[in-house]
Amino acid sequence: MSNMSKGFSRRALLRGMTALGGAYAAPSLLSGFRRAEAAYRTTRPDLPKNFGRGKSVAIVGAGVSGLTAAYTLAKAGFKVAVFEADNRYGGRSLTARPADDRYRTWWFGKYDPDKLFPRMYADRYQERDDSPAPGLQVCTFMDDAWKAGGYKGDPVDLFLNAGPGRIPSNHVNLLALCQEIGVALEPYVFQSMSNLMQSKQFNGGNPVSFAQITYSLYGEMAEMLAKVNQEACKLQGAAGSRAKQLANLYQLFGDLQRKDANDPCNLLLNQMSSRLGFSHLPGGWRDAGKIRPTVGLDAILQSQFIGDANQNPELSPGSFLFNGFNIDWQPALMQPVGGMDRIWQQLLLQDVPDDSLLYPRSRGSRKAKVGDLVFLNTRATGIYDRGGDAVVVLKGADAGYGWNDAPIAFDYCISTMAPNLLGQVLSSARMPAAFMRGLEAFSQTGEWDGPWGKDPTPNLWTPAIKVGWQGKNRFWEEKDEIYGGISWTTDIIGQIWYPSEDFTARTGVLTGAYNRGTNASQYAAQDGPQRLQTAVHGLGLLHPGSTGDIYVDRGLSIAWQYMPHQVGGWASDTASTTPQVYQDITTFRRDSRFYCAGDTWSYWPGWQEGSVASAYCAITAIAGTIDRTFADSACFGTAG
Ligand SMILES: Cc1cc2nc3c(=O)[nH]c(=O)nc-3n(C[C@H](O)[C@H](O)[C@H](O)COP(=O)(O)OP(=O)(O)OC[C@H]3O[C@@H](n4cnc5c(N)ncnc54)[C@H](O)[C@@H]3O)c2cc1C
Repeated sequence: MSNMSKGFSRRALLRGMTALGGAYAAPSLLSGFRRAEAAYRTTRPDLPKNFGRGKSVAIVGAGVSGLTAAYTLAKAGFKVAVFEADNRYGGRSLTARPADDRYRTWWFGKYDPDKLFPRMYADRYQERDDSPAPGLQVCTFMDDAWKAGGYKGDPVDLFLNAGPGRIPSNHVNLLALCQEIGVALEPYVFQSMSNLMQSKQFNGGNPVSFAQITYSLYGEMAEMLAKVNQEACKLQGAAGSRAKQLANLYQLFGDLQRKDANDPCNLLLNQMSSRLGFSHLPGGWRDAGKIRPTVGLDAILQSQFIGDANQNPELSPGSFLFNGFNIDWQPALMQPVGGMDRIWQQLLLQDVPDDSLLYPRSRGSRKAKVGDLVFLNTRATGIYDRGGDAVVVLKGADAGYGWNDAPIAFDYCISTMAPNLLGQVLSSARMPAAFMRGLEAFSQTGEWDGPWGKDPTPNLWTPAIKVGWQGKNRFWEEKDEIYGGISWTTDIIGQIWYPSEDFTARTGVLTGAYNRGTNASQYAAQDGPQRLQTAVHGLGLLHPGSTGDIYVDRGLSIAWQYMPHQVGGWASDTASTTPQVYQDITTFRRDSRFYCAGDTWSYWPGWQEGSVASAYCAITAIAGTIDRTFADSACFGTAG
């Protein structure tokens, strides 16, 4: 280890300095030191093995954040218990899988042969009673050929990532975690030039390929810039040669053609650019193919692909064209092989010290796992920080433990609940007034109500809805040359995702709709069958003639604002839109026994990266109450 020399670690040196110089004397020397020694630039605190010995932590919520916290704390010697209100693990990371016994057996054989935690296979879910679609939804995807063949060999791995589906390269905490716990990653295609765009204001409502629109737009813009540059291009000397360089740039950017082969400055849109893609593919002999026509700038402006200048660009369909520039939505992202739930499933399967179990579980002679720390169907109904400890009141029963409103004292508590749900159970005594004020801000609703009715999503969150179903074949690949990526429409379904895995397989699962904000609120107001019919209609807009190619009866819909123990898709970017609220909810006393984690408590709302990063902050804060050198952390504020 680079930080160690002859058994005398920098940590020991700095501890000594702290003892000599007072609690906060050393931080400037420590910059970066508290991070785990790893190739990844994670913000995980580097806790020695027995750091938490003798201390207990209650974690509320078994989503990505709670399970990451449990794993990290247990490894550092804390005694941990995770209480989850729902009957399933994973929180918003929900992946629906076929409800078929043979399929389930195949799946466990592949991913968890010992079937240690049978409930980690989710094949059904149900929105709350107040949902317009409150019925039980059971996933009936099936590889029919595999079934007809007597379940021999491997079926196509069929699943719907009903929550998260992709991971960008800059989510280093999550990626490092995947590496550590053995989650295999593969490319997730966010954008390909074969993906489609559709608007009823454009092309008679017929979809166009990304290639056709993108080339037309870039070509038109490049041609305009080239025209502006034309006079300067005629100049002699430095100004002229710079202008010629610019002309070269525009030619490359827009694949323009020269009007006169000897004049580098007179450039025109290239109606025959292969960047437009082909309506008839070139072949052998004299089959030259047919290039798609360019699209005029006026038509693009009228299409709504550029959106309304007054609209939030994130929510505007206009952002379709430029989504790939967003660092979190790069054209190539990543996904766990086999579904997003693989992350928390692998977390459940990690070994932890046997004595990290606060409550014994029956597990025979095998080693303790993170999954043994978790109690499902166990709701926190009260939480209060008493100064010397944190008390959690629990309701429910799991694994022989029945907590009937019993208040239990722990040394610490980390909550990963949504802020407005937390506000309903957290006692304000000893909590900073600012913190309680922040929670209160999340309790306001009304923003997402509309003529279709009321929507329960807090104003500071966004509603989000997804539909998923199985293709009878992979028509998007066979008919439209689409291998992964997303097609976009101004219709209420918003988008269709194509699977980035198992290209050319006999079947696959499409995300048949995915929307958020007002459209998600309006869409979620439909009942279950209506939601699917709406998605069929949207599919027909993007893939005319293909609505018969999906199993509509195998469709699933999920509106996150109506899911039990959830309040919507994710929090809005409160750190930038309502900075005071964000500051308030991240205000904790330095000696607090209660902390929060979850993507809302991060600069990554709506991303698992935020769930992991905030879990590391809550742990760092706990560590800071034990060893004050941990007070030097970016979690408590960075200068820049
Ligand atoms: C549609 C959608 C798409 C998304 N896409 C992506 C993506 O592509 N990539 C990405 O990285 N992220 C994405 N996200 C965000 C990602 O899902 C979240 O950031 C992450 O899963 C949140 O994890 P968490 O543990 O912070 O919170 P949650 O998963 O919400 O966990 C909180 C847990 O607390 C439990 N709980 C609540 N109240 C109580 C109580 N009283 N007692 C006990 N337990 C309680 C809940 O049941 C839940 O299990 C998406 C989210 C949605 C909804």
